[in-house]
Amino acid sequence: MPDAPVADAPVPDAIDLIRAKRDGRILADADIGWLIGAYTAGSVADEQMSAMAMAIYFRGLTAAELRAWTDAMIESGQRLDLSAVPAPTVDKHSTGGVGDKVSLILAPLVASCGAAVPQLSGRGLGHTGGTLDKLEAIPGWRAGLSAREFVELLSTVGAVICAAGADLAPADRKLYALRDVTGTVESIPLIASSIMSKKIAEGTSALVLDVKVGSGAFMRDVGQARELARTMVRLGTESGVRTTALLTAMDAPLGRAVGNAVEVEESVQVLRGGGPADLIEVTLALAREMLALAGIDADPAAALADGRALATYRAMIAAQGGDPDAPLPAAGHLRVIPAPDSGWLRRLDALAVGTAAWRLGAGRARKEDPVSAAAGVICLAKPGERVEAGQPLLELRADESGRFERAIAALDGGIEVRPEPPEIGPVVLERIA
Ligand code: URA
Repeated sequence: MPDAPVADAPVPDAIDLIRAKRDGRILADADIGWLIGAYTAGSVADEQMSAMAMAIYFRGLTAAELRAWTDAMIESGQRLDLSAVPAPTVDKHSTGGVGDKVSLILAPLVASCGAAVPQLSGRGLGHTGGTLDKLEAIPGWRAGLSAREFVELLSTVGAVICAAGADLAPADRKLYALRDVTGTVESIPLIASSIMSKKIAEGTSALVLDVKVGSGAFMRDVGQARELARTMVRLGTESGVRTTALLTAMDAPLGRAVGNAVEVEESVQVLRGGGPADLIEVTLALAREMLALAGIDADPAAALADGRALATYRAMIAAQGGDPDAPLPAAGHLRVIPAPDSGWLRRLDALAVGTAAWRLGAGRARKEDPVSAAAGVICLAKPGERVEAGQPLLELRADESGRFERAIAALDGGIEVRPEPPEIGPVVLERIA
């Protein structure tokens, strides 16, 4: 005998859910799961999801809604299984800053201390650069790996930085692109769920978040950054990923180099035991957090000093087809910006320098745009240093001389020299656990 027909559960309606969020009502877990699934499958339209993102921008999500939203984004794709990797897995994610090349140093550094660092990264959009764009300045290096290669390199080299596959939180891929063009990026629950869905799906056991604060960051003030950090730490911990966060300053570029090849060069300087103090400070603070979460008792400063981190970096680059000894692309055109006055450099605004580097060709305006490997900015002085009027302050590099005018315009108001020395605060501002 045929089974008796079962009544279908009522299908939620996207318009009702948008109205509910718009009016400040709380969405049920099942409705959130349906919405994200239907959006990923294409049956909820972009314009409906845009309206929902804007409603969330204004109304926020409760902790329970955010949990359901993040879980649904994870469930929209595959969750990687890293259980075959013999070392403890621990990753780092930065919310994005100018001159932020920390991953290039940190991944091999922490791996050289005995952890496995599975870093699925993205490309840059706007004034903050992307880790993959930087590494692609190295001749031969390739960002795309299969899941099998990823696990294999993680088990052998210990550090892998590569592009996230299309099946890692595909709902976020779609939604992030939509938020980018609808003015809905700057929402704490949407940022937190976007970042954490990808990191949880990546399969890491532990995660350290570097939440940037200042003019060159998403979060301009420390209160917002703290809220974002707490939200992400809670999401990670609830999913069984040991998670902590550091809030770090992003009012001036990190280190002296901003661009792609120039940031690779500066990273290698640090791996060789040199490099700028602020970059070393942030990298070591993050390394110590990662090693503590991985349960490894090791001194990352020693691994930098004795060449172990550099050896792992070279292995990591070579394993993905890169030649760590090959000369990096050089820019055909240089322009020097002199110090406007004598005195102390008080401000070198991260957003101004990041925008200049972007306009020189180091970044992209749309995700399909190519980037220049050689373009960028070298900060010849940093805030807190003494300068003389006319002394070279910034060196701009580009493939085409026509790029300089708009890049120089971006620096307008971003440089301040004063007669008295400024107080320079710490780079690592706070720890959130
Ligand atoms: N980075 C992400 O991956 N998602 C956001 O929403 C913002 C920054």
